Parts: sequence; structure tokens; C-alpha cells
Amino acid sequence: MQPIDLGEYGIRVSRVFHNLSPSQLYEEAIRHESRSCISDSGALVAYSGDKTGRSPKDKRIVRRPPSEGDVWWGNVNVPLDVESFVINRERAIDYLNTRERIYCFDGFAGWDPKHRIKVRVICSRPYHALFMHNLLIRPTKDQLATFGTPDYTIFNAGQFPANAKTRGMTSKTSVDISFEDGEIVILGTEYAGEMKKGVFTVMNYLMPKRGILSMHSSATADPVTGRSSVLFGLSGTGKTTLSADPKRRLIGDDEHCWGDDGVFNIEGGCYAKAIHLSADTEPEIYNALRFGAVLENVIVDEDDRHVDFEDTSITENTRGAYPIEYIPNALIPCMAGHPTDLIFLACDAFGVLPPVSRLSAAHAMYHFISGYTAKVAGTEVGINEPQTTFSPCFGGPFMVWHPGKYAELLAEKMQRHGANVWLVNTGWSGGSFGTGKRMKLAYTRSIIDAIHSGVLATAPTERHPVFGFDVVTECPNVPKEILMPRQTWADPASYDATAKKLAGLFAKNFATYEGGVSAEVRNAGPVG
Ligand code: ATP
Ligand code: MN
Repeated sequence: MQPIDLGEYGIRVSRVFHNLSPSQLYEEAIRHESRSCISDSGALVAYSGDKTGRSPKDKRIVRRPPSEGDVWWGNVNVPLDVESFVINRERAIDYLNTRERIYCFDGFAGWDPKHRIKVRVICSRPYHALFMHNLLIRPTKDQLATFGTPDYTIFNAGQFPANAKTRGMTSKTSVDISFEDGEIVILGTEYAGEMKKGVFTVMNYLMPKRGILSMHSSATADPVTGRSSVLFGLSGTGKTTLSADPKRRLIGDDEHCWGDDGVFNIEGGCYAKAIHLSADTEPEIYNALRFGAVLENVIVDEDDRHVDFEDTSITENTRGAYPIEYIPNALIPCMAGHPTDLIFLACDAFGVLPPVSRLSAAHAMYHFISGYTAKVAGTEVGINEPQTTFSPCFGGPFMVWHPGKYAELLAEKMQRHGANVWLVNTGWSGGSFGTGKRMKLAYTRSIIDAIHSGVLATAPTERHPVFGFDVVTECPNVPKEILMPRQTWADPASYDATAKKLAGLFAKNFATYEGGVSAEVRNAGPVG
């Protein structure tokens, strides 16, 4: 442990534990957190309390020059005045000062040394420190010795609520980012994912200023050529699952940048969904949940500490966080060459989108700006209509600039480096949710393999009558009949009606962006 004085932040807790090892953080968690335990696989089991997912409505960006003119203000980037930020910051620090023990972890975000930022996490829960130890890039001893002043500091006082009477607060949860101060303040949520997505938001602000595209994506590298492949997608579409691929080197599972030298990961670890996880279908992730990993909100057997990955009694969103090197074929440092392929993942619960389609440059821009996926609606009886999500750049909640800024960067890089673009449906096949079934993971993996091997670049295609892109009609190890979804539906007329309906939803969503794009991109939308 390195001694550290946090007096400059007004933190005067006598016991500050700085850069503890995972072993020490385990000891702290077991001693001082009532429900923490060690799973039979060696992972640290921790609970995040009431909030078991992100709170997007409670995110705030401090509105102040000079960043004021850069931010796309609205529902995603909700402005917070400086005074409220100062109040929340002080509230967090006051809370941290009531603690007997505080944890501080220093790490990097961004594997490219030219573009990385130094991040300091100050928190009251050992599990939060271990989580960020896993998710940030862990500095070497030498790098720590010369770490200096962080670029960003996260004050995580998530156990303590925001005051709902503070101006700009709409609940007891607040995640506040100040670009000018280089600070993130967290109140009223202990969900660890807020910290990693807070850092991602910061990178989504900083990187485009340098002409670098930040992406909500996973990425892998070809073991021979060193070229990368980037998989974009909203939550639950398969970024993490499909990037754990024994045929490829893992660059990262969630946050990447594309700059002049190629692609680099922002993070030092992965944060995988653990629900229904099995050693058979996802062995790399399953085996990564061992000593050093954090298992969040899972249910363990009282006696043998075996984890029940089927149990959703706390949340469907159970997660495991582990250092990237726990995946056997991780590429370290997590950087690779320019992408050969960009893969847009959509989990289409309507079952309309084909398993794999080839996109033209215009279709690629249209779908990047649309950012479509669909979820199965809540569990209420009788409601099984899928809920669509359209989220620009496949990561709307984390973007800071207008989506057009990221779209321009993508278009420019795509063209310059000649990447192929694919739309892959990891959602339903054979009908909408209720009638059809989720695409077999084995089929999706075969599709991804065929993209990477180059087979699909020359595979036969058929123009989709509604969406206008080229549907791949032959792919090794995928039954031909599922590649054209209309053929898998019991009633083709019902497919046509559902496709038309989805097309309408695309068009309605895209109306907002129509003015800002070329006629070519505008015309790449569905017809009907
Ligand atoms: P987040 O941004 O929230 O991390 P993600 O895009 O990384 O989301 P994953 O964690 O990969 O999403 O989740 C995909 C889930 O869907 C996994 O639980 C996986 O097992 C399951 N799944 C089922 N069928 C498929 C399929 N055909 N392709 C991909 N994933 C599938
Ligand atoms: Mn993921």
C-alpha cells in the first residue's frame, strides 16, 4: 500500500487504503461488508443494494464554459448548474469523511499511452475499489510511483443519497460529471457500472476533440494479421459474449477508440452479464469468474457458496467484473490495427432483421445513427410486444457530442480504411418474441467466424424488400432457411406486416436526424 493524503479534496479520514491488492480488498470486503462472501470459484460476491443497474435519468453534466458549447444538451446530457455540483460534491465528501475506512485506486483509461487519462477512484466500499482495479488499466509499480495528479477523480459516495431538494435533482440518485474540474460525483447508487460508464462518458467527450472515434463496442484482433474487428451494440446484444472468441485475440468487451494507429481499448477489464451463464456455451467468461473477479448481485448457496446463475431474484442484470487477462487469448496491450469489419449487433425481438446483412456505406451510416435494438417487454402477463430502443451510435446514453460528430468520424475512418459493415441480428428467429426463439448462439458465432474469415464478403446476397440492404443467403454452419427470416415464419404475410411496422418505427425515429445527413443516407432507410 502506498501512503496518500487526500487532504486536498477535504478528505480527512485517518485510514485511507491506497492501491490495495485484490487479496487485501477481499479481506476488507469480507471483514467490513455484511453480505460479501467468496464464491466456490474464488470470486468476490458483492451486492449493490437498491440500484442493480444504471440510472440514466439521474446523470448530470455540469453546464459551464468551455465545454458548454460542445455538449449535446437534452435527455441524455442533462445540465447541472455549478452550484448544485458543488453541493453534491461536498455532500459526497462529507459522507466519505464519516467513514472509518476509505479506499483509493489509481488507474488509467485508454491503452494508447498517447491518449490515456489518469483516473483516481475514491470510495467507501472495498468492492467498488476492486471493481475499478479490474475495469481500469492497472498501472505498473513504476507508473504508480510517478502517477502524479489524476486527470479525473471519481468520488463515489453511492451509499449516501443526494438531497432531492438540491436544484436539478429529481431523485435521491445523482451521477454528476464536471469536465472542467475533472471530477465525477456519485450519490445514491452503489451500482458499480456507473463508475465505468462515467469514465466512458469522459472519453466520449475528450477523444472526438482529437479526431478519435470513441465507440460503445467490443473488439477482437485477427491473430495473424493483427487487424481488428469492432462489434457495436446496445446492452444485451452480445458485445461481451461474442468477443470472448477462442479464434481471435480479445482487445476488449465494451469501450474502444479508433484513432490514426488503429483501435485501442479504454478499459483494463470486462463486465459480463452473468445471467444464465454456463461453462458449456461461454467457457472463457465462466472461467474468468475466479479469484480477483467481482460477482455482483448473484445468489450463492449458503453452504457451498456455489453461484446459481439462473437466479434472477435480485436482478436479471447480474454481472461479473474481471481483469482482461483472465480471458486466455486477451491481447495485451489491448491495441490492434485498423478494423477489417464493423459489426452492428441488434437483438431484434421482432424477429424481422435477418441473421446477417451486408451494409453499404449509406446503410451503415443510417443504422449507426439509428442504433436499433429491441427488448422483450416486462414480465407482466399478456404483454409480449417487443419494446424498441433507438440509441444513436449504439450508445446514446454515453455520448456527449451531437451524434453527427461520431457519425462523421465513423464515415471518414470507414472510408479511409475500407472496413466492411455488417448488421447481425442476435435476437429472434422464426417469429417475434412469443412465437419464435432467440437465435442460437452457435449460429451467431458461425456468422461472426464467416465474417472474419472473409467468406461472407463474397457470399451470395438478396436485397431485403423493406430494409434495402443485402441479406446474406449462405453461411457455413448456419442453416440456409434461417438466413431469410420470411421463410422461417409460419405465416409470411405476418412477417411482411411486422417488417412494415418495424420500418415505420425506424422512419419515425430517424426523422430527428434527417436534416443533418446526406440524401444518400436519408434514402438508406426502409421503405414502406
Ligand atoms: P452490455 O453493454 O450491457 O455489457 P453486451 O452487448 O455486452 O451488453 P452481452 O453481455 O454479450 O451483451 O449479452 C448477451 C446475452 O445474450 C448473453 O447473456 C448471451 O448468453 C445471450 N445470448 C443468447 N443468444 C445469443 C446470440 N445469438 N448472440 C449473442 N448473445 C446471445
Ligand atoms: Mn458487455
